[in-house]
Amino acid sequence: MTSDTDRILEKLGEIELRLQRLEDMPTNNEIITEERTEVAGEGEMDSERVSRVNDSVVTTKRITMCDYCFGKIDQLSLCKKCGKKLCENCAIDFRNEIICLQDLRETHPISRQVFKIILMIANGITGERDMNEVSGIPRDEMKGIVDFLRDSGYVTTSFLGGKRLTDLGTEAFYAHSQVLGGKDDMKDLDGRIEEYVSRA
Ligand SMILES: [Zn+2]
Ligand SMILES: [Zn+2]
Repeated sequence: MTSDTDRILEKLGEIELRLQRLEDMPTNNEIITEERTEVAGEGEMDSERVSRVNDSVVTTKRITMCDYCFGKIDQLSLCKKCGKKLCENCAIDFRNEIICLQDLRETHPISRQVFKIILMIANGITGERDMNEVSGIPRDEMKGIVDFLRDSGYVTTSFLGGKRLTDLGTEAFYAHSQVLGGKDDMKDLDGRIEEYVSRA
């Protein structure tokens, strides 16, 4: 009997010791969890990283944004030339590849102002006075742009002064219109062109 009691007491002592040790262990209550959100760097994809900083567990989420306009991406494309992540508004279909506007400009150095002139010529508005009336671009500036377009092979001018886009000009027009076409100033110009053409 005595030995049984002894054994029980001994066991209780062990249990007490264990409990003591458990109580002495640091508790997990002090760990602070923190969540940080960062924008993934250029060419980087979504990622999630868990790290420990002092007493905190930090979860860093990197979200994919468009490297061009920094907007949200619904449909991701990568620029074939520079690897930038592009949203659907910034992806340009060019010669069967997806590229960004910056890389398109390497091939076709067309500014917004130059694009406006191309847009008018594509719609058959080719007289300098007409183009000035529709777009408001000063005539001397327009003359410079038209000279540039002709010298670069985007536009041909007939003997009588009529202008039309060459194949190169048409290619530049379609490529640039994928990005520039949706901008407010271009939509505005589109409206004025439509109005002008319907009046003529
Ligand atoms: Zn974008
Ligand atoms: Zn690019």
